[in-house]
Amino acid sequence: MGPLGHFSVGLAAKPAAPKVPLGILLLATWLLDVLAIVFGFAGIERGGSAGLPWSHGLFMSVTWSVLAVIFTSRIYRDRRAGAVVGLLVFSHWVLDFVSHPIPFSSFSWRLWQWSYGHPLPCDLPLLFGDSPKVGLGLYNTISAVEATALEFGMFILGGALYAMHVVKKREAGRS
Ligand SMILES: [Zn+2]
Repeated sequence: MGPLGHFSVGLAAKPAAPKVPLGILLLATWLLDVLAIVFGFAGIERGGSAGLPWSHGLFMSVTWSVLAVIFTSRIYRDRRAGAVVGLLVFSHWVLDFVSHPIPFSSFSWRLWQWSYGHPLPCDLPLLFGDSPKVGLGLYNTISAVEATALEFGMFILGGALYAMHVVKKREAGRS
């Protein structure tokens, strides 16, 4: 799933972790992709048939989530804040599990149409490179336009929940 879909979960989670800045919540939802970029540059993950075991494998995703819980509950001295951030890190895997594999698609400005890539095999390993790979493949079955609409919809919903939280807080501050 793309950043908008992931960020929507972070926006929606703000009322559950009022102490944690929104930027940290958004980063938590996107952490696995940040790790994928870092590991890609470092040559640790090559993607392709090996998938992304260190950033997006189920085992390592749970590990990163647990580390996020420990780290943020220490920083904010708040177990609940830690739990929310850990769940947000893991929400990335859940959304990717539903949406992956993501076929490459591109938009042609000349023809004014999306071209859809070939459906890809699953790319989320359970453990490491040679373990079974999973993914429900939603983005293999819907078009890029539908996927984009879905993510915008999620983002608007998350943004609305966040906005309601901000308004409530302001009203509480006034009274
Ligand atoms: Zn991802």
